[in-house]
Amino acid sequence: MAIKNCSVVNANYERVITVMEKFLHERDQNVCCCPRCMSDIAAIALNYLPPHYVADSERGKEFGSPWVMVETAVSEAIDRVKDNPNHPHSVIVARERGSADNIVS
Ligand SMILES: [Zn+2]
Repeated sequence: MAIKNCSVVNANYERVITVMEKFLHERDQNVCCCPRCMSDIAAIALNYLPPHYVADSERGKEFGSPWVMVETAVSEAIDRVKDNPNHPHSVIVARERGSADNIVS
């Protein structure tokens, strides 16, 4: 039996993405911005936070962990991926927007 019309989202996901964008934009973190590193940062931060699943229709409301907790989680995640990316340090994608093919080797 397949369950249909079931749609839940982790409210912390949108919070993590919001904080990631803020931190990566405001701070010069020297973080690789390839899809793998971005996904790793989000995953680490989300695992660090308690899950906060809500029905998809509740999206946009004030759910999720307190912002200060999200910021701490994202900060830790950025540090971890920066120190230990899941690919060689020699392949770091430049952070300039719109230049995803700008790979420094
Ligand atoms: Zn990367």
